[in-house]
Amino acid sequence: MLQPKSSKRTHYAIQLISNRYKQVIICFVLIIPLLLSAQVKGVKHVILIGVDGMGANYLSKAQNIPVMQSIMQQGVSTMHARCVQPSSSAVNWASMVMGAGPSLHGYTEWDSKKPEIPSRQIDHYGMFPTIYALFRDQQPPSKIGVIYSWSGIGYLFPKQAVNKDDHTNNDSLTADHAAKYIQAERPDFLFVHFDGVDEAGHGIGWGTNAYYQAIQGIDSYIGQIIKSVKNAGIEKNTVIIVTADHGGIKKTHGGKSIQEMEIPWMAFGPKIKRNTILNKSIMTYDTAATIAYLFGLKTPQVWIGRPVLEAVK
Ligand SMILES: [Zn+2]
Repeated sequence: MLQPKSSKRTHYAIQLISNRYKQVIICFVLIIPLLLSAQVKGVKHVILIGVDGMGANYLSKAQNIPVMQSIMQQGVSTMHARCVQPSSSAVNWASMVMGAGPSLHGYTEWDSKKPEIPSRQIDHYGMFPTIYALFRDQQPPSKIGVIYSWSGIGYLFPKQAVNKDDHTNNDSLTADHAAKYIQAERPDFLFVHFDGVDEAGHGIGWGTNAYYQAIQGIDSYIGQIIKSVKNAGIEKNTVIIVTADHGGIKKTHGGKSIQEMEIPWMAFGPKIKRNTILNKSIMTYDTAATIAYLFGLKTPQVWIGRPVLEAVK
């Protein structure tokens, strides 16, 4: 039967519209998984906890550290990650958040406040590109915090890129402030720095009873932070990484002994393997690359850090 002309036109129009819908639907079906795969699913928060001077050689022998022991059981760990040379603080805290070593970012001393070697690249914050800048630029609504016991950390991030810049000068306050900030703001990325283990090392000696007591103290502070993550209701979406800038020997560090060079690296949370010892090489600048990977952040060409893929499910 011949259809009247108008009905034919309507039918044609409907078909045209439904074809358009099909195209749109196909586009979404193809594009949405690509968008999702840019960020490791389930990871919405990363808390990076840095324990100054916590050498892997000593941590592996530490007793009564239930929190870190449970992180290692629930997640991944190694006692053979390495810091960069020299085995000093600022140069290594810089490397950890800048995805590169001192020859590139230029911070070379224990107390560098600016690069002694001109940075190979400068971003629009006037610094070598940091993980903080990647968050701010690529995911602008991110809540980013830095809470730290040692003033030297204050020179190693672009102030304009973070929401919270809190130098406490005291580990107990650092833990308190971090816990409160996590519960109140649920930050996307938070860096927490503890200093007491390094102080015990310099004051009494690496590997002494006082040094191990300091590690036990930090262990309970890490427990306080994990509790706040649970209280904030974000534990299912939060990856926690615990590492250090360097180890030490006798009452010092900066040298080339394995006690100074080896640092612990542990992580747990969504998409992180359980109860796994990491065997492959990890450098401190891989930490920044790993955080960028978890959030699908594009890393600058000048970075040499690689994500710790061995840790990810
Ligand atoms: Zn030190």
